[in-house]
Amino acid sequence: MLKVEAIHTYYGSIHALKGVSLTIDEGEIVTLIGANGAGKSTTLMSISGVTRPGQGRIEFLGQDITRMPSERIVALGLTQVPEGRMIFPGLTVRENLRMGGYLRRDKDGMRRDESMIFDLFPILRERHKQAGGTLSGGEQQMLAIGRALMARPRLLLLDEPSLGLAPIVVENIFRVIQKINDTGTTVLLVEQNAQMALTIAHRGYVLATGEVIMEGSSRALLRDPKVRKAYLGED
Ligand code: ATP
Repeated sequence: MLKVEAIHTYYGSIHALKGVSLTIDEGEIVTLIGANGAGKSTTLMSISGVTRPGQGRIEFLGQDITRMPSERIVALGLTQVPEGRMIFPGLTVRENLRMGGYLRRDKDGMRRDESMIFDLFPILRERHKQAGGTLSGGEQQMLAIGRALMARPRLLLLDEPSLGLAPIVVENIFRVIQKINDTGTTVLLVEQNAQMALTIAHRGYVLATGEVIMEGSSRALLRDPKVRKAYLGED
């Protein structure tokens, strides 16, 4: 479904990605783990078209999206939930969701999807008239995911959904990510919380200073002594 081939991404003179390659098959949850500054967010933003790789190639559903405008990438079925949620604080929950479907014209389908999102996150139904900015951090994360789902993605990119949230809220969000995947959406998940991410993912890639240093099934990565020591906090 997605093929990232040796991308290099720069911020001015900073060489943030140094030849990152990865693949995702339809139906998978794939996670990218790694320390702060390893290049996880940059990889997601290079895929979704927020930043552009200077070299390399990205293919989604057989099409070259390396330099495609982001809204065309969204229309093809690839949507990113950015780090820090970035919801519209002055708009209501419902208005935020509708913004996620701004490229759609099928009103009935949008209503059905809104209702599906409210089933996934019942608290958003309760708060649908509330301004996004009045929600708790966890609710804002749910709203950010819901808004991305309104674009009907086939591949959903999630950047640090657990950031700053209490463990119980994180568990709820991870359960829903799994449910979203069960209903047919492929997921690329970036996480600092490697333990949680590898628990729900099928496969993972480990990034360090802009390079993929390890890849494998989640089970193999969870067992790997180097991963356990560096990313799972074991001695
Ligand atoms: P984090 O978990 O902290 O977000 P990350 O693995 O997602 O880390 P990136 O945010 O992709 O890492 O950063 C990769 C490298 O690029 C780091 O050295 C970072 O300082 C640098 N970088 C990221 N964004 C910018 C920017 N807008 N301008 C300059 N350098 C940047």
